[in-house]
Amino acid sequence: MILSRRHVLASAAAAALSGAASVKPVPAQNAPAPVGVHRTKIGDIEVTVLSDGARPGKLTASPSRSATLEQFQDALAADRLPRDEFASVFHPLAIRTGGKLVVLDTGNGPRSLAAGTGRMAANLAAAGFDPKQVDMVIISHFHGDHIGGLVSADGAPAFPNAEVKVPLDEWNYWLDDVNMNKAAEGSNLRNAHGNVRRVFGAIPGKNLTKFESGKEVAPGITTLATPGHTPGHTSFVIASGSGRLLVQADVTSGIALVFVRHPDWFGGGDMDGPMAVATRRKLYDMLAAEKMPVTGYHLPFPALGQIEKSGNGYRFVPVA
Ligand SMILES: [Zn+2]
Repeated sequence: MILSRRHVLASAAAAALSGAASVKPVPAQNAPAPVGVHRTKIGDIEVTVLSDGARPGKLTASPSRSATLEQFQDALAADRLPRDEFASVFHPLAIRTGGKLVVLDTGNGPRSLAAGTGRMAANLAAAGFDPKQVDMVIISHFHGDHIGGLVSADGAPAFPNAEVKVPLDEWNYWLDDVNMNKAAEGSNLRNAHGNVRRVFGAIPGKNLTKFESGKEVAPGITTLATPGHTPGHTSFVIASGSGRLLVQADVTSGIALVFVRHPDWFGGGDMDGPMAVATRRKLYDMLAAEKMPVTGYHLPFPALGQIEKSGNGYRFVPVA
């Protein structure tokens, strides 16, 4: 079983069963928090949400394979969002746990600065972290908006002293030339395969580790397979004391709020639509039942809150 309530609870420490999970914003000591940086504590673990910027777009076609443009626009309006334009947002994390500095996903990378993204490096510095001090980088999946920041503008590793941990199933899919060659030349999927080779070609093999589901990959951080968006897509449970946080990554992606409301719609980036839908419903049923806080890579900044059941879908309630 790749994803069960028992699995999450077991991995998240017995002490957390009481529903005492909490997301408490931590005020800055002396200065206001920099724009695009938000700190919270999960027990003894400090989690900093970093904005990678926003990429504006015009809505000329439906971002979902299951909804018409008009249905999608109605869904945007229901969340009081504009009908004709949107901004894609991206939220990597910096996590201090057990004396280690961990980065979880890395943003679009420096090649995307002109598009309004690739700002994770600047926000990491604004949060007071030096990329040379990062001990570990954990990757949820291999889409470009999650791995692009592994490499700096000059092609060198952006976190030179970090061990890079990636999902084994993700590695096995993307690095298989048979899968790459099935994708049409020039297609987005083919380009994504090329991008994976470019990025991981820059990371020395000795710094790379592959993980499976249900493993503790850093102190208090446990992996949870959530496939569908990509074959090896992985979420994470952060647990310390009575605090827990589910790092969903792209269980909902794109204009994520719409897919929270309409979990049965296939997202444009969901590589296996039916599997993505099944994973989404299973995880969100669990989060709603447990009132477990969640952070979502594509949810609006600071990308922290809770999932509640609403109608035939769910609703994202941002942290106060
Ligand atoms: Zn993404």
